[in-house]
Amino acid sequence: MKTDYHLHTEFSDDSSEPMENQVKRAIELGLDEICFTDHVDYGVKKDWSEGNIEYRGGDGIAVAENARTPIANVDYPRYFEQLQKMKKLYGDRITIKQGLEFGMQTMTLDKYRKLYDEYRDELDFVLLSVHEIDNKEFWLYGYQNERTQKEYNEGYYNEIYQIMQQYKDYSVLAHLDLIVRYDPIGRYPFEKVEDQVAEILKLAIKDNKGIEINTSSWHYGLDDTMPCRQILKLYKDLGGKIITIGSDGHSTRYVGDHYEDAVRILKDIGFTQFTGFTKMKSEFHDL
Ligand SMILES: [Zn+2]
Ligand SMILES: [Zn+2]
Repeated sequence: MKTDYHLHTEFSDDSSEPMENQVKRAIELGLDEICFTDHVDYGVKKDWSEGNIEYRGGDGIAVAENARTPIANVDYPRYFEQLQKMKKLYGDRITIKQGLEFGMQTMTLDKYRKLYDEYRDELDFVLLSVHEIDNKEFWLYGYQNERTQKEYNEGYYNEIYQIMQQYKDYSVLAHLDLIVRYDPIGRYPFEKVEDQVAEILKLAIKDNKGIEINTSSWHYGLDDTMPCRQILKLYKDLGGKIITIGSDGHSTRYVGDHYEDAVRILKDIGFTQFTGFTKMKSEFHDL
């Protein structure tokens, strides 16, 4: 059983890959099951239903019209319609699951509650991510630039913990040490955030939620897995069992990327199974 539980398509503002290309590539690679997890980031992106969508690459920047990407969340009705179409066309060759990646903030929780209520019957899987705090996106360094390394690392894990205390309609915590990818100073010593991370993992386990191993660490050139091996091991030691494998691929190039490496590392740490989801319920497969 080979899966990829973190895949983006042109329904995400930062991808221009048609869903069908991702599906075809996954079939080519021999994946048995994939889950699409396009982006929703309330606070920094609008819903299509709000209208007046802005585009990246506009405003005097010379880019081709078709290269402009809308700064918007998933167009939900079109997304779920396209997923149905893909299942009809390719369902005999690959299992396709319906997910979303919630880029949450403590101040946007109500919007996700509303969204989940509206689409709960469509969803197999939800990634809980923190990509921004106070509408300051990590990839633009807005949050980090105003703080010390200690402050933005602790602030990041604190935000995740607070969200988890108040919001339970998710499946796994995505790229749990994401802040490492956008740390202008370099990797903050794990020991300094270990207690915070342990509390997050304990709460996830108590709530029957999981984590993912996000294989984009390889193409970003990080010096460890994402999350790092210490977190994977801590999760295992605390009794964590729910773990998905995802490439976070935004184009066909990264579908199923470093899958075998992820499996090997999980086995080395002592995991014997990994996880998939149907209608938000976990299913286990042998590694
Ligand atoms: Zn993410
Ligand atoms: Zn993602």
